Amino acid sequence: MNAAGSVVQFAFATATEIAFGPGVRRIVAERVSIAGSRVLVVTGRSDRPSADVLASLHASGLPLVRWPVEGEPTVAAARAAVEAARQHRADVVVACGGGSAIDLGKAVAALLANPGDPLDYLEVVGRGLALTERSVPFIAVPTTAGTGAEVTRNAVLSVLEGRQKVSLRSPLMLPALAVVDPELTLALPPALTAATGMDALTQLVEPYVSVKANPLTDAICLEGLPRVARALRRAFADGHNLEARTDMALGSLFGGLALANAALGAVHGFAAPIGGRFPAPHGAVCAALLPSVMRANVGALQDRGGDTDRLDRYTRVARLLTGDTCASAADGVAWVERLREDLKVPSLGAYGVARADVDDLVSAATRASSMRGNPIALDATELRDVLLAAL
Ligand SMILES: [Zn+2]
Repeated sequence: MNAAGSVVQFAFATATEIAFGPGVRRIVAERVSIAGSRVLVVTGRSDRPSADVLASLHASGLPLVRWPVEGEPTVAAARAAVEAARQHRADVVVACGGGSAIDLGKAVAALLANPGDPLDYLEVVGRGLALTERSVPFIAVPTTAGTGAEVTRNAVLSVLEGRQKVSLRSPLMLPALAVVDPELTLALPPALTAATGMDALTQLVEPYVSVKANPLTDAICLEGLPRVARALRRAFADGHNLEARTDMALGSLFGGLALANAALGAVHGFAAPIGGRFPAPHGAVCAALLPSVMRANVGALQDRGGDTDRLDRYTRVARLLTGDTCASAADGVAWVERLREDLKVPSLGAYGVARADVDDLVSAATRASSMRGNPIALDATELRDVLLAAL
């Protein structure tokens, strides 16, 4: 918390409108027809989660092209999808799927309104030019509960040659409408529920302890954390539990709101290079790293003193997660570790990350933008230990 009397200064930006609740997907077709006349619909590989939304769009009679995304989107995939959208003369983009579909849809909506190639605008590997035009209307309909991408201002694309994940990023990319319907996640299989749910948890912990946290993101994280804590095991054990799915959908949405306005930390600092180089799902990478990053941050904050507020935040996280009003920061770390084991999320070694990769990944993570939100600067030795513990 900010000390009484301290100066508070922040900005907060999100989707223009958020619609939340079981069944709320029914508004999509009508809202698409208000936003435009020709639609590109980006979906996941499987038809199932988006079937309802697609059927209602077909029934509305709007000329529609469906674009299924294959795995996590690449720059080449973004180019191909933009080309298809241009040929269709699409003036509105819908994405109905997991984080990959939403990121690709968000990139396409931005690139339809801005001339040139994705590389002109990509940070790190591209020219990093600023987008100048607001995206064409973009409607995001998540079918997983994890990334919160329906309310964020960036789209993650991988650059295969560079084995890297980088973002198109601009406030002009914020979706026009986020439609978060927990019923769309009911059929999500347990392994995906676990991995995406651990991403949601990470995206509530990291912004809360971030050096860029503000009172509004704090409130959002404090509301989201107990929901994920009580619901993730239940959603994993019984996917059709709508109450648990509703908590997880809120937790994911709140994580997106928080990370877009308060940044992340070392878990996501590592997740960027690991996700670019190894075939590991983002949520599983976060799950493997979250306990060891929490432990390292708590240890560094204790050893080096200074910011007791950040340490207090870890204690508060622990109490929200465990439901124990006397829990310590270390209890919170142990709780997350046990959760990961119960959800059977594999560690990084299962995806081919080995000791020989550690130095390279540590140096890449040090340069990652998320690292700047971490509550305390960790040195290379500390980062090495974090990664080794997650293998
Ligand atoms: Zn994440």
